[in-house]
Amino acid sequence: MTLMEEAIRGRVPPSIAQVAGREGIDPAKLARLVAAGRVVIPANIRRAELDPVGIGEMLTVKVNINLGTSQNLDSPEAEVEKALAAVEAGTDALMDLSTGGDLDLVRRRILASVKVPLGTVPIYQAAVQKELTCQGMFDALERQARDGVDFVTVHAGVNKISLERLRQDPRLMGVVSRGGSLTMKYIADTGEENPYYQEFDYLLEMAREYDLTLSLGDGLRPGCIEDASDRAKYTEFIMLGELVRRARAAGVQAMVEGPGHVPADEIQTSVRAMKHLTDGAPLYLLGPLVTDVAPGYDHITAAMGGVIAGMAGADFLCATTPSEHLDLPTREDVVEGAYVTRIAAHAADLTRPGVRERARSWDLQMAQARAALDWDGQFRAAINPSLARRIRHRRGLETDTCTMCSELCAIRLTREAMEKGRNKDQESA
Ligand code: SF4
Repeated sequence: MTLMEEAIRGRVPPSIAQVAGREGIDPAKLARLVAAGRVVIPANIRRAELDPVGIGEMLTVKVNINLGTSQNLDSPEAEVEKALAAVEAGTDALMDLSTGGDLDLVRRRILASVKVPLGTVPIYQAAVQKELTCQGMFDALERQARDGVDFVTVHAGVNKISLERLRQDPRLMGVVSRGGSLTMKYIADTGEENPYYQEFDYLLEMAREYDLTLSLGDGLRPGCIEDASDRAKYTEFIMLGELVRRARAAGVQAMVEGPGHVPADEIQTSVRAMKHLTDGAPLYLLGPLVTDVAPGYDHITAAMGGVIAGMAGADFLCATTPSEHLDLPTREDVVEGAYVTRIAAHAADLTRPGVRERARSWDLQMAQARAALDWDGQFRAAINPSLARRIRHRRGLETDTCTMCSELCAIRLTREAMEKGRNKDQESA
């Protein structure tokens, strides 16, 4: 029985209880959200050691970090090092998007090194191994599921119908999703339908066997502001909504991926449409990046979009790093992307039903430490304590204020003025 089926039967398996405890939500309520498909807890039954994570309604916004080799840079050690650094920086999940070297080795080493949920995109392995066939795509998926991968991206919404829509309404940048473009290539080369769409029932059987969570990929996500919110994207959302319904009927957990590059004023519409068309399936967004013109700063353009998307109902943010559009991320890029995306997720949590109060208590902790000029307290409350500590001490000047205003510290002046006022009041009483 899958986790979703257990939840449908009103049970609270250990992973649901564990997530409920961490999120401060009633376990029975969380089980109902899992049963309804509004929360997913990716957990492959073959995963040796896993700290389960809940993604969806009434839970905090989660963060994913993408890792993986490329054909130019294929060191498994480097990817494991990035995975460990990303976990230390607080990511909730990882995706191994490797396309270079020994893909099985990289994946297995990451799985053995971390306890956060791991996702993959099986079509990459099929393509790298020159097996971009129906059989090759399912073999890659099963191979990865057997290793214990917790969720897989399948671009099942890229099919002949959505591609016809794209042809009728061409874009400046076409298809920028790697999985989406490989699926297009398969359809163009063979004249056949996308196997993950055509054989979706078989895909569900395989997912059931490992209790694999499906992440229904946004293969037609817009790759630039000019292409945002077009007909092809919405056609794909409609397809994904239908596939979510079929996955739920089969007791398979499913979330939905979203764009991409979207101007700030279209994000709310986009998120609400995706939530509506997928009956509230957990929504996993890449960015969205709110402008195209900031290479080197795309972790920031994505975080801006992430806050707006999280406020509108997105549940899971895929971190972008400073390397986006430029290079394979380094360890430092991954860490930077993790922190910046966590900040976006937390900023959204401050407004999010079900988690707002808990999120605000963290900010309250920081505000109280700031008001008391309690520097250790500020470091403890900081999202990245070591960075805050390093900046505070970098000039070696130890004062109870900071070098920004020094003797003119507004917090201290206010405190002294208030104390003086209170003393005068006492004297005159
Ligand atoms: S010196 Fe200025 S910036 Fe620094 S703590 Fe005081 S008020 Fe804040």
